[in-house]
Amino acid sequence: MSDDQTYRLERMTWEEAETAFKAADYVALPCGSTEQHSLHLPMSVDTLRSSHLTDELAERAHAHGLELLVLPPLPYGYSEHHLSFSGTITIDADTYQDIVVDIGRSVKEHGADRFLITNFHAGNIEPHKLAIDRLQRDHDLPTRYVNWTDFAREELEERFGDNWGHAGEHETSVIEHYRPELVRQEKKRPQTMHGTSDSERFRYFDDLTDEGGLGDPTASDPAFVADVVEETTERILKDLSDDE
Ligand SMILES: [Zn+2]
Repeated sequence: MSDDQTYRLERMTWEEAETAFKAADYVALPCGSTEQHSLHLPMSVDTLRSSHLTDELAERAHAHGLELLVLPPLPYGYSEHHLSFSGTITIDADTYQDIVVDIGRSVKEHGADRFLITNFHAGNIEPHKLAIDRLQRDHDLPTRYVNWTDFAREELEERFGDNWGHAGEHETSVIEHYRPELVRQEKKRPQTMHGTSDSERFRYFDDLTDEGGLGDPTASDPAFVADVVEETTERILKDLSDDE
């Protein structure tokens, strides 16, 4: 990853931003959360992923004839289901939807052609869908949506099975790849999960797992995930450039 991050809005003056909004094919909003990620990972896992993996997209975009302008990552999300673990901060789903619409409305005001939401937290998906509907209908802002793991799912499932998600093999590997100093290696252990019924739609996470995570973080593999990141970045950019 390069250090200059010239595609990041927070580094720009307003004159530079004025040019960047006009030049960008997509203005991207990385979306994370501040929520518990078991005993071995920090609250910031989804926000760190949103930041590093959206940077990967911005840095590789030129090879696909695309220019991305990246907004500061949104560090809070809808995390009601994690609130019973200490440290989790949640935004009410309606408020969260409004926040995303307000950000998109601002982006539109500066002349952006298209908005791109890159998402790294499953709880955000439903409010995002409703926000995108409003942005397109009420604010005439074409919006694309990348729920990052959807583009990596096949490879992750093949390697890690079914429960690699929250604080499991995948997220542990991503943080070990980008920010290894934040992983409490001595706290990694297979997570104690409880079964659920298919017809249950909402459960608090302390019903699902004792430690707070899913899967087996001791089976993490940062080198494998580094390859997945490379391939997934290409796959997403190809999708974004398809209807250029
Ligand atoms: Zn997560």
